[in-house]
Amino acid sequence: MRDDIDVLVHEVGTRDGLQAIDTIFSTEGKMAWIKREAEAGVPQIQVGSFVPPKLLPQMADSGEIVKQSIQIPGLTVSALAPNLKGAENGMAAGAHQIGVVMSVSEAHNMSNVRRTTQDSLDDFARIVEFRDTHPEYKDVCLSGGMATAFGCTISGAVPLPEVMRVAEGLLERGADRLSVADTVGYANPGQVKELFDELYRTVGSDIAIGAHFHDTRGLGLANAFAALEAGVRELDSSLGGLGGCPYAPGASGNIVTEDLVFMLESMGMRTGVDLDGLLEAREIMERQLKDEPVHGTFAKAGLPLGFKYASAA
Ligand code: ZN
Repeated sequence: MRDDIDVLVHEVGTRDGLQAIDTIFSTEGKMAWIKREAEAGVPQIQVGSFVPPKLLPQMADSGEIVKQSIQIPGLTVSALAPNLKGAENGMAAGAHQIGVVMSVSEAHNMSNVRRTTQDSLDDFARIVEFRDTHPEYKDVCLSGGMATAFGCTISGAVPLPEVMRVAEGLLERGADRLSVADTVGYANPGQVKELFDELYRTVGSDIAIGAHFHDTRGLGLANAFAALEAGVRELDSSLGGLGGCPYAPGASGNIVTEDLVFMLESMGMRTGVDLDGLLEAREIMERQLKDEPVHGTFAKAGLPLGFKYASAA
């Protein structure tokens, strides 16, 4: 991570948010959002997902979006891929980081991608092999994503040993980093602290680990704080909390980027992000929405008197 920031804020609204709503943004509209948010200092943005356009028409222009986004100076461009084909397309477009997600819950993985978690791990190994046999992609970071790590809508609670087994499996197969996701908004802060404590004990503290929270039940920022307490320094979030949850109609999406940045900076943790710039990006995003709600409280209240951005210790 850059040495001028303490926590990496990873915007995922341009993927997780947009894929959860009906409005389809134009390529220009997405780029206006991405550019303004990068200009505000957000260091990493997940700009798309390399899934078949038939499944997610919102993501059909992901190749073009990646190509344009990598022209933005200083921005790390990430994208999701569900399988080898998607990962190949993502790398060909020039993404710096590819996130490959599998569900820790066997039942969820089966219903989502019709594969056992073992098959998904084998697929991850093939993606690593593809990267390693193509020198032009040697710098691509492959992130192993663990969805439903805190609970699952099909099987309920997900036992910690299963999370550890998948984490070790991903690292054995060459994952450069891990991302742990509360895909359906089941996590609570106590559970988050326990999971990340156990994860660092299991895989060591040298591995970069990101956390992905949804605010489905109002615990999103509390969960982010618990992850920080455990040592996590990379957090996913979504501008205006754009998005939702397929299992909870009307629910909010990811934790809200501007609220998260405000929390981190207030606590003395540098993000490199300018909050006024974020609000401008939020307006650019909001103008393109039809009926979808946006969330977050910072945008309503603004900066408190005497607020200071975090500075180097
Ligand atoms: Zn998500």
